[in-house]
Amino acid sequence: LYVPKALPTFTPQDFAADESLPAIATRLLQPFFSGDALADELAAICTQAFDFPAPLKALPVAQTHVLELFHGPTAAFKDFGARFLAACMQRLHAVGPAPLTILVATSGDTGAAVAAAFHGLPGLRVVVLYPDGRVSPRQAHQLGCFGGNVRALRVAGSFDDCQRLVKQALSDRELQACVPLSSANSISLGRLLPQMAYYASASIGHWRRTGTPLDFVIPTGNLGNALAAILARACGLPLGEIALATNANRVLPEFFAGADYSPQASVATLANAMDVGAPSNFERLRWLYPDADALRKAFKARAVDDEAIRATIRRGPSRYAEVFCPHTACAVRVLEDLREAGATGHWAVVATAHPAKFEQIVEPLVGHALTPPAALADLLKRPAHAEALAADYPALADVLLGKS
Ligand SMILES: *Cc1c(COP(=O)(O)O)cnc(C)c1O
Repeated sequence: LYVPKALPTFTPQDFAADESLPAIATRLLQPFFSGDALADELAAICTQAFDFPAPLKALPVAQTHVLELFHGPTAAFKDFGARFLAACMQRLHAVGPAPLTILVATSGDTGAAVAAAFHGLPGLRVVVLYPDGRVSPRQAHQLGCFGGNVRALRVAGSFDDCQRLVKQALSDRELQACVPLSSANSISLGRLLPQMAYYASASIGHWRRTGTPLDFVIPTGNLGNALAAILARACGLPLGEIALATNANRVLPEFFAGADYSPQASVATLANAMDVGAPSNFERLRWLYPDADALRKAFKARAVDDEAIRATIRRGPSRYAEVFCPHTACAVRVLEDLREAGATGHWAVVATAHPAKFEQIVEPLVGHALTPPAALADLLKRPAHAEALAADYPALADVLLGKS
């Protein structure tokens, strides 16, 4: 896993001239791009990628806020990283005879964000693999509705099969002599670093209003989103406490409670984008905090089971005047637990997806239909088509080579 050689140090005053999310992102990311071929393009990349807001809203409970990360084209936070990566790749890959193929395995949200971000970009194409029948109908629709330079493959197998096929293709040199490949998975620094921008923007705004840091609870699976917050804090931005909220996949809460780190097989939950038994960015956390005890002191982590997710979604409208997605509900519940245990101060719950993406879970719990945001509604109106693929490598190689 790549890590930055050094982290820049900022103070909130460094951003005094920056109001918009792209302006804050540009200043924050500049040191990471110094000497890079894209350095001069950074402002344009941030403006292109972050063309939707990340508002911090006060909830009707004292000192409690929600950071909404679902205003992008596929209504989940992964749009930020995917759009930034696409804007970089578009500039790095000269349009030539063979397009660069971005190969992604997805259990739902990542593939849609990557497909939306790369759709229509010249010189690039996306091939998405997802487990047939194991993503929600709306997720399947989002994956299949792009067409053009995006091909959706529904694989007769599990997410692990999809990931295995992608890894095999990425390590097949013979194939790549004919078909240049790249990936866009959750360990890509090109997705991770830009995610710091919304934490910078929210915490600086809060700092300007109150002169205090803002604490965050972050729904966590592979640790991509949370690591961005942790890096932002390490760069001197005014983030206070950072608490990780997982679903019933409790490898992180167990580690933070003192157990050895022991990856487990993932279990299926209502917050399925967090069904991770071996968080792929954990090693980066260990790089930042080589001492395990220091790491355990630096963060809190708590697990939330499906029953608590349901209860939290059910009382969202009356207690918070909000409908939460199952992932966001984990964070809301963890904040309630922390408050009960005596936590004070201003906290922001990070809302990682719009609830209408998970309507089959959320609508029965709140008792009414949810209106999808406009961008998601547009995607759902388009016709969708995905091609069936056997879960074996020769079949994928044929598709990539254009033989089928
Ligand atoms: C991917 C995802 C998460 C988990 O984020 P990580 O970066 O893997 O920790 C949480 N919520 C939603 C809606 C997601 O799509």
